[in-house]
Amino acid sequence: MHDSFAAGTPAQQPANIHADRGAGTFDIEWRDGHRTSYDSTTLRWLCPCAYCRGEAGMPGYLDSAPQLSSEQTRLVDVHLVGQYALAPTWGDGHHTGYYTFRLLRDRCPCADCAARRASGGGGHGHPGA
Ligand SMILES: [Zn+2]
Ligand SMILES: [Zn+2]
Repeated sequence: MHDSFAAGTPAQQPANIHADRGAGTFDIEWRDGHRTSYDSTTLRWLCPCAYCRGEAGMPGYLDSAPQLSSEQTRLVDVHLVGQYALAPTWGDGHHTGYYTFRLLRDRCPCADCAARRASGGGGHGHPGA
């Protein structure tokens, strides 16, 4: 009865989350056994908030390909939002990005997932025709 991450498939449910602020890495172990490891810069660039991504057709901050400072990519803290997302706090105080587990798994930077995205276009689609 510790099924606190209710939504999604095992591939979208974290079993373990570990943020190493010193090393600037962020690791997730998923219920299906897969491991995802982000460095903080990669994670910062994925920020899905309206400010970074834009909204209503307006480009966001990250769309202008800014030079991110070391403060902006410094992972200060991470907290859980409900049971579906993580909200990192960055060195510049930015904290409005809610990274859903689905997004974090979808964008997993490992070679396997990169190959899957390249061939399938993301999601759980059907390869080829
Ligand atoms: Zn943001
Ligand atoms: Zn992966």
